[in-house]
Amino acid sequence: MPEPRNYQTEAIVIKKTKLGEADSILTFFTPHLGKIQGFAKSLRKPRSKLAGHLELLTHSQVSFARGRNLDTVTGSQTINSFLPLKSDLWLTSCGLYVAELINQFTAEHQENFPLFPLTLETLHRLCLADNKELVLRYFELHLLESAGYRPQLRECVACHRQLEPTTNSFSPSAGGMLCPDCSPDQSLSYPLSVNAQKVLRLMQGSDYSNASRVKIDPEISREIENVISSYLKYLLEKEVKSAAWLETLKEQRLQFQRNSI
Ligand SMILES: [Zn+2]
Repeated sequence: MPEPRNYQTEAIVIKKTKLGEADSILTFFTPHLGKIQGFAKSLRKPRSKLAGHLELLTHSQVSFARGRNLDTVTGSQTINSFLPLKSDLWLTSCGLYVAELINQFTAEHQENFPLFPLTLETLHRLCLADNKELVLRYFELHLLESAGYRPQLRECVACHRQLEPTTNSFSPSAGGMLCPDCSPDQSLSYPLSVNAQKVLRLMQGSDYSNASRVKIDPEISREIENVISSYLKYLLEKEVKSAAWLETLKEQRLQFQRNSI
């Protein structure tokens, strides 16, 4: 049976690319179709009826007409515009970071269902939660898991012994922790304090409401951020070779932190 010519899906707009004078190509993340692209005609014209429903980071119900190469967006109705994410520069940058990670770690037309609710919840939490850093770290860890890169945090990835409560190291290339006996063999590994290891395991193994109850001091927060971002960077360089934006974002964040002190 031929596929129907028109279809509808829930979607989050994760990327916009300008095309010609007034058109755009949009990248959507959807619950069951994975990442998809759509041609949006005249989206950048001032009177476009669709534009408001197809802003970056907007959760919408979107209609498409199948095309030979690219499907065309024929309609869109906002479900949640996540307004706070668009009215604060720092929050916008957090939201775009989430969208960019989704774009990098998902494939077109490949369903990754657990990742869709995680993304929506993360955008909600960014709007509401006090500790945005924790929201992002939780998202990163669970994104890694659903993309097939769950970091091994409980045993040494080289000798497979259970880790002792001492300073162990994280190796991005090995995808997990190394005990003190095995870490000298690895050139690029990051020492992690006992408390930072505990927090990481807790974030990986529990739901957000439990993870968000933990008080994390700034030192541990920095340790965790360094380790996860070095792992993401390693994976993106190895798999996608486009980690430059992560560096840019990191600089933006540092600037923000400096400005907010
Ligand atoms: Zn070991």
